[in-house]
Amino acid sequence: MKPSLSDFIPMREEIVMTAQRAYQEGLMAATSGNLSCFDEKSGYIAITPSGMDYSIMKPDDIVIIDLDGNVIDGIHKPSSEWKMHAEIYRHLPQHHAIVHTHSPSATAYAVLRREIPCVLVEMLLFLGGSIEVAEYAAQGSAAVGTNCLPILSRKPACLLANHGVVTVGDTLAQAYTNSVYVEDSAKIVQLAMSTGCPIPAILDKEGSKPYHE
Ligand code: 13P
Ligand code: ZN
Repeated sequence: MKPSLSDFIPMREEIVMTAQRAYQEGLMAATSGNLSCFDEKSGYIAITPSGMDYSIMKPDDIVIIDLDGNVIDGIHKPSSEWKMHAEIYRHLPQHHAIVHTHSPSATAYAVLRREIPCVLVEMLLFLGGSIEVAEYAAQGSAAVGTNCLPILSRKPACLLANHGVVTVGDTLAQAYTNSVYVEDSAKIVQLAMSTGCPIPAILDKEGSKPYHE
C-alpha cells in the first residue's frame, strides 16, 4: 500500500531546514546544490526543486518523485540532478539521504581533480579517509551518480570532477555533517599548504579513540 503524502511532511520540513542551513553556512551559493531523502517503504525520493532560491524555499516546494523521475507530488520541476540521486539510492540502498553542494574550498579540489589527503582524525572517522574524485560526467546525467558509486560504496563522500561534492548518510543530518567536514577538511589543507606541506596522517580508528574521550 502506498503511503499517504502527509507522511512526507516531516521529510520535506527537514530538507528545507537543512538546505537553508547549508545556504547560510556558505556550502551552497545562489541556487547551486541539491538535497534529498529516500523513503524505503514507498520507494519515493523527496528532493529540492530545480533552480530555487533557498532563502524562500518552503516544505511544499520539495518534490516527491519515484526512482524514474516521475513526479508523484509537487508544484515544481525536481532538481536537474535527480538522476544522480536516483542512481545512488538504487545501487547503495544503505543510504537514505544525499547532500550535493558546490562548497568552494572542496570544489577547488574537484576542479583540480585532486584528492584531498587524509590529514585529520575527523576525515577518518566521518569520511572514511581521503576524499577521492569521481570521474567527470555532464551535469544532470545519470553518469554523475554512476561515476560516484565506486567511491560511495566505500566512503560517504566524494568530489565530482569540475563540479562539486556529494555526501551520503543513513539520515540527512549525517549526510549534512559529512558535507560540512568535507568543506572544513579542504579549507584546512589549503591553509596548511599556504605555509608548508601538510603531512598525510597514518591514522587508524583504534589510535584515534582518545581524541573523542
Ligand atoms: P538544481 O537547482 O537543478 O538542483 O541544480 C543545481 C546543481 O547543483 C546542478 O548540479
Ligand atoms: Zn551541482
